[in-house]
Amino acid sequence: MIIYDLICTKGHLFEGWFDDADDYKKQHRSGILECPVCGVTEVQKVPSASHISLKRRAAVPDEGVGKGALLKQMQEHVERNYEDVGENFAEEARKMHYGEREQRNIRGAASWSEYKALREEGIEAVPFPAKPVPREKLN
Ligand SMILES: [Zn+2]
Repeated sequence: MIIYDLICTKGHLFEGWFDDADDYKKQHRSGILECPVCGVTEVQKVPSASHISLKRRAAVPDEGVGKGALLKQMQEHVERNYEDVGENFAEEARKMHYGEREQRNIRGAASWSEYKALREEGIEAVPFPAKPVPREKLN
């Protein structure tokens, strides 16, 4: 039995229990995985941080760490090591992919359709739940 953290297109995080990795793949392919919050069936595994990087790969322990702690760790890692390009994420990722920009680690906002378009072009991008903005930063 394995447990995966899953995320839907609206950013809801939830757990999925599977017999093994193949079981997950089978269920994912047949589209029967469903977000328990909003019911959409476009869900996927929350990636490890190793998939976020467009250039360098970073290791984040994925065992022995509680789910919340791991997510927090990933968010902090991304915050520290990735340049925030905000709404320009898709554009920047594309420019790096086609060599118009120097390769670097970036993070930012992209819509689900932008994300899908990037993946179709073979650009490695990963949806990731953003860390809530601390109250003091809002002022
Ligand atoms: Zn949802």
